[in-house]
Amino acid sequence: MTLEHLRPGQTARIEAVGGEGALRQHFLDMGVIPGAAVRVMKLAPLGDPMELRIHGYELTLRLADAAKIEISDPADHTESPRAARKPEKQDHPGLGEDGKFHPKGSGDPLPEGTLLTFALVGNQNSGKTTLFNQLTGSNQHVGNFPGVTVDRKDGAIRRFPNTRITDLPGIYSMSPYTSEELVSRNFVLEDKPKGIINIVDATNIERNLYLTMQLLEMNVPMVVALNMMDEMTGNGGGVDVNAMESLLGVPVVPISAAKNQGIDELIKHAVHVAKYQERPLRQDFCGPDDHGGAVHRSLHAVSHLIEDHARAEGLPLRFAASKLVEGDNDICRQLKLDKNELELLEHIVLQMENERGLDRSAAIADMRYAFIQRVCAQCVTKPHESAEHRRSQRIDRILTGKFTAIPAFVAIMALVFFLTFAVIGPFLQDLLQSGIDKLAETVAAVMEEGNVNPTVQSLVLGGLFDGVGSVLSFMPIIVVMFFFLSLLEDSGYIARVAFVMDKLLRKIGLSGRSIVPMLIGFGCTVPAVMSTRTLPSARDRKMTILLTPFFSCTAKLPIYSFFAAAFFPRYSWLVVTGLYLLGILMGILAALVFKKTLFRGEAVPFVMELPNYRLPSPRNVLQLLWEKAKDFLQRAFTVILVATVVVWFFQSFNYRLELAANPQDSILAKVAGILAPVFRPLGLGDWRIVTALISGFMAKESVVSVLELSFGAAGGVTAALTGLSALVMLVFCLLYTPCVAAIASVKRELGQRWAWRVILWQCVLAWIVAMLVRLAGMALGAA
Ligand code: GDP
Ligand code: MG
Repeated sequence: MTLEHLRPGQTARIEAVGGEGALRQHFLDMGVIPGAAVRVMKLAPLGDPMELRIHGYELTLRLADAAKIEISDPADHTESPRAARKPEKQDHPGLGEDGKFHPKGSGDPLPEGTLLTFALVGNQNSGKTTLFNQLTGSNQHVGNFPGVTVDRKDGAIRRFPNTRITDLPGIYSMSPYTSEELVSRNFVLEDKPKGIINIVDATNIERNLYLTMQLLEMNVPMVVALNMMDEMTGNGGGVDVNAMESLLGVPVVPISAAKNQGIDELIKHAVHVAKYQERPLRQDFCGPDDHGGAVHRSLHAVSHLIEDHARAEGLPLRFAASKLVEGDNDICRQLKLDKNELELLEHIVLQMENERGLDRSAAIADMRYAFIQRVCAQCVTKPHESAEHRRSQRIDRILTGKFTAIPAFVAIMALVFFLTFAVIGPFLQDLLQSGIDKLAETVAAVMEEGNVNPTVQSLVLGGLFDGVGSVLSFMPIIVVMFFFLSLLEDSGYIARVAFVMDKLLRKIGLSGRSIVPMLIGFGCTVPAVMSTRTLPSARDRKMTILLTPFFSCTAKLPIYSFFAAAFFPRYSWLVVTGLYLLGILMGILAALVFKKTLFRGEAVPFVMELPNYRLPSPRNVLQLLWEKAKDFLQRAFTVILVATVVVWFFQSFNYRLELAANPQDSILAKVAGILAPVFRPLGLGDWRIVTALISGFMAKESVVSVLELSFGAAGGVTAALTGLSALVMLVFCLLYTPCVAAIASVKRELGQRWAWRVILWQCVLAWIVAMLVRLAGMALGAA
């Protein structure tokens, strides 16, 4: 039978894994290999995908993909608990104690002053970013969604000035599946770091060691950091670190990144192995007696066959050999084997497949997992079911439960928006606004007294305080919004949302993973676009990026609040919510259009780890908030300030650079007048509105600051626009081109052509929808 038919609660053994290509390799790398025991935990509320437990962790899989996996007859037994050994207290030899696992190869260190570069490599959610922050003391985003780290981040290790450590995206194996995985693999292969710090989640050790084994093959000095040891020992588990060191042949340091334990020791070992270039003592994991030794013989035969090619290309030999046997075309091409050698290679591998009774990818994956099983049996005392896991299961009963999941999602999002926009945000905002007002009064009084030139006064009061100040007061709302989003992400909830929503998103041609960029888009489009790199197919990536502008970013909020407060003070809530919903609705429509036109075809398979829920560490959250606040302040005092001053200048002077007596004569009015005909049909022909919209391309917040500046007192806007045109304006702002920063990130991901297309298409769409709103309003009799 196939895995698709296994019912929740049942366990079976995998017999064969169907499918082909990169996806199949990905299955195998995630531990879905013949012989592994798999248990169905539950189905998503809409019946698809399913949640599996395999090698001690949870994985999602669509039914259509599960249908390709052959299993034995199900048994209702639960996972057999490992014979529990008592974890013994044991000392870990420090660096000074003979350096038992430091062979000191030649004993001749790299010359003094060499920059020691490290790659921080590990599975997603193993705690890389947390460790990176501990090592460098710098601010990094930490997330609990698989693959939050999308960009490369560098930093020097604290107190070690001549070091540079790079936080790489989380990967599961050295076979690239997503574009992030390619980034990590290429970094290790091409940038040739002096050392690798491999972070391993001890609570999920089998899956994590799979990557470790491939890293050892890279023949780069390496230290294994066994993370989450606090959770491990807290639940009665333990690791015989010394035994593991001798099996792996590299130093293994137990740490807890979140609790800052073991970090100093880790640093010492890492710097030491890099300085003395101590390479792993072991790269050979296949035994001559395992299953008749077929895999062993083929790997060694291929190693000899390609030795000279690997050296010529600067590829680690053992890595190249196992990739070749596995069937990795990239490496095969890179090695430039000639026709004879290719044939020889094929024969060796065919012979192995025949003898082993498994195909090449499965045979290699099986060899690796068999070794891991041996390591774990010798060194690891499994914790009893961890409190964290039990808690996760309990929470999941509601958050991914059949009838509760979707209501819970709606309720959680509603709560987040309510708290952000109605409770915490406004409170802080009022506080800040009154502070700014006080300051403005004082400054005004001082300038009055000092008889400051009236032009300068107008710049300072009108430009700086009214413009930038009004934008600044939105900082609390924006930071609060990011706080909640990062809480959802760090805790592991967004991964569940992806699991629950996968089936719905497939209807619009996407996979559950796309929900992450979309939700992040409510914060800011820039990180949203960046986070699409975790999506495994180019088609899904493109489509998701094109949809992110529909999810109102926080920078548009000042605009919404400004108009809602001025025109619909009693219904401001309704208006703002309506705008958010309209954005989502337009996004869905756009997706449907894309699916039928530009991006035909199926969304990629949905294979994703579901991590335990974890409480994000306060330090990481604070760092994130500080980062966002800093980011915002920087924008306020650079882009927005400049935009405001420039607008102030053009609005205050005429062509002869004299102070314009009448704003209508100003340069700005004249320039805006050229574009005004485009907006006149929408009822937005006023030159001040047009300039505000133009400046919104720099940063959405500056729409408000420019409006404040050009309309002066609050009554100005209400006099210039009708209620209907205010609504039209809001709809236009909701949909028109994202700001320069967002467009720049689209360009980085998709190229210049797509960036221009996004600008054009969003503007046209905004105009059309705004027009429809206007027509509808007029039909209903609104002025
Ligand atoms: P990354 O995806 O590999 O960058 O992992 P993160 O650094 O984002 O960490 C994932 C989650 O694990 C976060 O919620 C962390 O707070 C948590 N975490 C990291 N290190 C530890 C640790 O040593 N112990 C415990 N209990 N949690 C940790
Ligand atoms: Mg990370």
